[in-house]
Amino acid sequence: MHDTLDVPESAPAPDIDARLAAAVGIARDALVEDVGSGSIGEHVDVVAEPTGFGYAATHRFAAKVDGYVGWFWAVSVSRAPERDEVTIDETVLLPGDGALEVPEWVPWAQRLQPGDLHPGDLVPSDPEDERLVPGYIDSDDPAVEDLAWELGLGRERVLSRYGRLDAAARWRGGAHGGTSAMAKHAPAACGTCGFYLPLAGSMRAMFGACANEISPADGAVVAADFGCGAHSQATATEEFAPEPDRELIYDTAEFERGAPLRPLTAPEVLVAVRAIFAQRTPPKKSRLSRSKRH
Ligand code: SF4
Repeated sequence: MHDTLDVPESAPAPDIDARLAAAVGIARDALVEDVGSGSIGEHVDVVAEPTGFGYAATHRFAAKVDGYVGWFWAVSVSRAPERDEVTIDETVLLPGDGALEVPEWVPWAQRLQPGDLHPGDLVPSDPEDERLVPGYIDSDDPAVEDLAWELGLGRERVLSRYGRLDAAARWRGGAHGGTSAMAKHAPAACGTCGFYLPLAGSMRAMFGACANEISPADGAVVAADFGCGAHSQATATEEFAPEPDRELIYDTAEFERGAPLRPLTAPEVLVAVRAIFAQRTPPKKSRLSRSKRH
């Protein structure tokens, strides 16, 4: 198997010097001295080195090395124009065309995928990570800025605008986003659920945490248009059921007919949330109106 080689084609080479072409034994001896006879196969060919002006050539031998299928030993030889002695320049193991080669090395940090991190693992922080900016730069998130101002200190690095948009896009398209299978079969969206805890800052408009132990998303960030079968209103008692004359918060008619449910859009979620609060919260009376009555 090792003796059959597909040696790469060389550029047009000058004529091979006869003494160098005949120096097969010298080349083999040098190779044996370097790597031992056991890993050397038959002599394959000899080619002139294009830059050797006829006084440099390379002998190729099949390589009998485990795991190096299609590789060959190259022994470069040369001589001075006025001298007969052949000298060894170098010996090297090279791949032939189609030789089995290792894939290009990719740093561990670039190969890391979500889910690869295990207890005790450390991911070295990248100083050039565009998702993070130094804490003294405005983070573009009022909640972060307010907190840092209140405490009189800040974190060394905070999430950049790019970092937050990147996370938002990932969360929206992920397992707890509005397009997931769970969301499509939910009776209503998280934005209308009593177990939904909105995030602070600019993420508040679209994301929150689920606080329902029964839900598969318990403790995770969920999009406002995500939803699950444990929605607070799906298990509502008579007492909390919407009045017949209330505006519908979600319509399950399509679901009953077996048609695929359309997840609520963000504006629809906001309208629904406002509707719930408007129905539950009695109108506030101002001090002024009370004092007028007395
Ligand atoms: S219980 Fe379900 S619908 Fe309610 S917040 Fe959690 S995931 Fe969303």
